[in-house]
Amino acid sequence: MDVLGLETYAIEIRLILRELGIPESYATDRRLELQVETNRSVSAGRDIYDRELRLTPEGLEAWNNLRSNALKDGIVLQVISGFRRVSYQRGIIERKLATGLHIQEILKSSAAPGFSEHHTGRALDLTTPGATVLHSDFEHTAAFVWLARNAAFLGFRMSFPRGNPHGIIYEPWHWYFQG
Ligand SMILES: [Zn+2]
Repeated sequence: MDVLGLETYAIEIRLILRELGIPESYATDRRLELQVETNRSVSAGRDIYDRELRLTPEGLEAWNNLRSNALKDGIVLQVISGFRRVSYQRGIIERKLATGLHIQEILKSSAAPGFSEHHTGRALDLTTPGATVLHSDFEHTAAFVWLARNAAFLGFRMSFPRGNPHGIIYEPWHWYFQG
């Protein structure tokens, strides 16, 4: 994205944050960087809900690499969520607001639109058969132990470890391909 495109994007995001009642200081308070929504996502198979999974070509290659290496060690990895649009992230927040949750509470488990790594097409929420989806218990699975040991060598990092500086809950399932 060029500079003008990035400025326009940042303005759009600022507007969405305002509409959702998210303070302007959100990014600095949370030490979160703006994540650009990719326009290069490609079909990457299906997620566990049988929805189309989309990733960037790099994200897809990295995911295939991660999955096949895990499988060699007898570990089955599955995707809960890959690429997500800003509009989709906004919908998540709006649905939670509609249930009566306070915005600050919501932001502990959901990034604000424009700040989710899922916008980049390089982030994956992972699970394995038998695990509770999007639950910290995932850390007790063989799949997580495998990821913790191997994912970094394949270019992935766990973005939200315990006590992370972003005020986001521990997310052992969320992995980002940094290359
Ligand atoms: Zn995630």
